Amino acid sequence: MPKESSSAKVVTIWFCCNCGEGPQNLRLVAHCPSCGLHVCQSCTITKEKRSTRR
Ligand SMILES: [Zn+2]
Ligand SMILES: [Zn+2]
Repeated sequence: MPKESSSAKVVTIWFCCNCGEGPQNLRLVAHCPSCGLHVCQSCTITKEKRSTRR
């Protein structure tokens, strides 16, 4: 019996290093909606598993 792990998806999220706004989806949001800063190496970038039910 195969596991249904294909429904899970890893998304890259980030927190703004300037104002701490987040988490934000890096694929959808590259600029902080709060302060307008573009995501940079100082930002906290992490990966998170999300289920794709939509
Ligand atoms: Zn910000
Ligand atoms: Zn930054």
